[in-house]
Amino acid sequence: QKTIEKLEQDKELHAFLYLKHPSELIREAEEADKAWEKGVRRPLQGIPVAVKDNICVSSMPCTCASKVLQDFVAPYDATVVKKLKESGAIIVGKTNLDEFAMGSSSENSAFGPTKNPLDLSRSPGGSSGGSAAAVAADMCMVALGSDTGGSVRQPAAFTGIIGFKPSYGAISRYGLVAFASSLDQIGILAKTPEDVLLTSFVLFGKDHLDSTTTDVFMDFSPKASEVRRIGLVKEIDISAVDPQVKEGYELFVKQLSKDFDVVEVSIPHWEEALAAYYFIAPAEASSNLARYDGVRYGTMVEEETYWDTVRETRNLLGEEVKRRILLGSFALSAGFKDALYEKANYLRRWLVLEFAQAFKDVDFLLTPTTPTLPFKLGEVKDPLQLYKADLFTTPANLAYLPAVSVPFKATGEPLPVGLQFIAPFGQDYKLLSFIRELG
Ligand code: GLN
Repeated sequence: QKTIEKLEQDKELHAFLYLKHPSELIREAEEADKAWEKGVRRPLQGIPVAVKDNICVSSMPCTCASKVLQDFVAPYDATVVKKLKESGAIIVGKTNLDEFAMGSSSENSAFGPTKNPLDLSRSPGGSSGGSAAAVAADMCMVALGSDTGGSVRQPAAFTGIIGFKPSYGAISRYGLVAFASSLDQIGILAKTPEDVLLTSFVLFGKDHLDSTTTDVFMDFSPKASEVRRIGLVKEIDISAVDPQVKEGYELFVKQLSKDFDVVEVSIPHWEEALAAYYFIAPAEASSNLARYDGVRYGTMVEEETYWDTVRETRNLLGEEVKRRILLGSFALSAGFKDALYEKANYLRRWLVLEFAQAFKDVDFLLTPTTPTLPFKLGEVKDPLQLYKADLFTTPANLAYLPAVSVPFKATGEPLPVGLQFIAPFGQDYKLLSFIRELG
């Protein structure tokens, strides 16, 4: 009932693109209660969960906040959704995002932006801005997002909640609409570390429908008490970030150094990661999005010839999505591929090695999650400036690593800042148990 009252706020926030009818929510909640009385105990029984609108929930629309998919209704459940349902969760609806998860402010949604519950004049971040706003405003306890270059951690930082991106392959991507397949991971947003841990227990695991999933490298013994050393990335120029973010970060580091050894480590190619990301992600996107030609999916603009249909359908795509497709096609084109796409991949391989080297010395790395506070809605017009929001989050995606953003509020500051811990591959549980112990 409380959730339903909270969901009323959505008229103001626009966190959801689709909401289940309140009577249906009540029916499911009552069913969960009855099951509980009968002694049924499932990990997420009766817990309201929101799902980003680029993850398929059977019989619900899956629009990716794009006009191209505005009439598309998912015919099946993504593996994560199947697991949520089996564990008793109640799916409340589908959350707003930047079109096809491309963006950092949720303003690229074809259906209008989401507002930040902490300050309605600001963006909740993106691309999982709807999921973050839904959790922050208590419209659900847990939300799923997708994180290709930071889209779970950055909105979590902007709305003062926790956002977790697992190791690549820890959670199945089956039923997640592909943006950049080698970087995409489904992530979890919630207010408490316990909720994130519990949900990750439910979602983790090998899935025969996604051949990139793996159990093999996952370390299931959390061992948070073994954490001794935290590394700060030498290449991050902290004087260049927003003063309030800097202040929060420095204060946090000071507190952390009371209990841990905090040392500097080097990731020599850290600064190039963003540029590499903005070739690799669009390159993969240009290929993944080729399927929206007006014949296979969703809205079809019927024209005389196939190519007219393709052209008209693709004109339904927003500016940013078009930009990415062009950028990606360019990066992959003959004559430029070696200098752009291949070079970016070369850099990515270096990053993987450099992280491995750094983790010989420290348990986790700590960085700010974002260089700025949440932008005002409509404030950032230059796409390049928006890309810079991903400065600290893209390295973990490129290197396949688990990372989590936790909120931190210095006393007297109106907005929290996000701090990011990055862990070695497969040490997701250690990372999550660690942040639970931090409190
Ligand atoms: N902001 C980044 C981008 O626009 C990240 C998006 C994401 O993680 N889905 O590509």
